[in-house]
Amino acid sequence: MGTVVTGAATVRVRNQRDCYAGLELYAPDRAAASIDLSDNTNRWGMPPAAELAMRELAADSCARYPEIYAASLKEALAAYAGVSPSMIVTGCGSDDVLDSAIRAFVEPGDRIAIPEPSFAMIPLFARMNGATPVMVPLAEDYAVDAERMLRGDTGVIYVCSPNNPTGTVAGRAGVEALADGARGVVIVDEAYAEFAGADLVDLARTRPNVLVVRTMSKAFGLAGLRVGYAVGAPGLVQEVEKSRGPYKVSAVASAAAISALRDDLPWVREHIALAVANRERLSLELAHRRIPALPSSANFVLAPLANADGIALDMRRLGVAVRPFTNLRGISPGLRATGGSALRISVGPWPEIEATLVALDRARASCA
Ligand SMILES: *Cc1c(COP(=O)(O)O)cnc(C)c1O
Repeated sequence: MGTVVTGAATVRVRNQRDCYAGLELYAPDRAAASIDLSDNTNRWGMPPAAELAMRELAADSCARYPEIYAASLKEALAAYAGVSPSMIVTGCGSDDVLDSAIRAFVEPGDRIAIPEPSFAMIPLFARMNGATPVMVPLAEDYAVDAERMLRGDTGVIYVCSPNNPTGTVAGRAGVEALADGARGVVIVDEAYAEFAGADLVDLARTRPNVLVVRTMSKAFGLAGLRVGYAVGAPGLVQEVEKSRGPYKVSAVASAAAISALRDDLPWVREHIALAVANRERLSLELAHRRIPALPSSANFVLAPLANADGIALDMRRLGVAVRPFTNLRGISPGLRATGGSALRISVGPWPEIEATLVALDRARASCA
């Protein structure tokens, strides 16, 4: 409740939803660093064809509204995903698609089952939409614990594969069990699928309750343009589209994304292969330092390490940003040994990783 003074009278106004009371703005420590391997974006940059399309966009395209539901972009995405355009919904980043999907499929008070640890935004989107997040620990082998996620009366189930921040995969069998057993929609967040060499889009084609959410922010190098999408049965994506609303993808973003999909897939694939090779090389480098990185299928590696906060702070002073976690609960002997403390290091060009390893060694020496 807020208070408004109007002349002599004081009027109480309702200016906050109850479920927003404990919510804070998203504000991780983002001081500039010359090498930034903290957010899993494409460190090789954006696809050249996308950059060209953006520069050549007619000024008139920006004076007009973009397509209401991004029909041309849907066509390009559908060709890429191997589905029909009626099975695609787009959004202002996949964050927007995830938020819209939760809003579309939960009633206030519903429970949403979410693995722990996983993408930190999901419990927030749940609460923003009046739903209650129910956290379910990942199994020992990092697979999704389908039996526990299905327990209890959940309106929506969220799974992330490869999972952020662990980099591990949920397991096809577990996701299929969720789809078969769920009372409501199963959201499968595949932000990093391109780095895994396998995906679950076929489940969106064969199950009426599976929504596979993807993004152009990671493998496609377009995080700044904010393009996300989901694949699902036409009736399902239509509900998300209603919830999302019109004009969510800008004309600039749409033109760049379409060019990347139509003209630059070889560029994208080449850099995915580089990221995968450097990921394996980084894991070996960490192993040499007796840091047992989790088995990653994404473009980042999670390294269990005591005092992650202190080490990340020291590394930042040395000009390198990585993402520390201090309280990852529920899994794996490696993480239990550090009390849930770990660094998430994105994979980029090797010179950036080399500089990151130098900073890591110096920070560990001075924190020891
Ligand atoms: C990065 C990320 C996203 C969000 O990406 P957008 O930039 O909003 O498309 C979604 N899910 C996971 C798991 C992510 O790591």
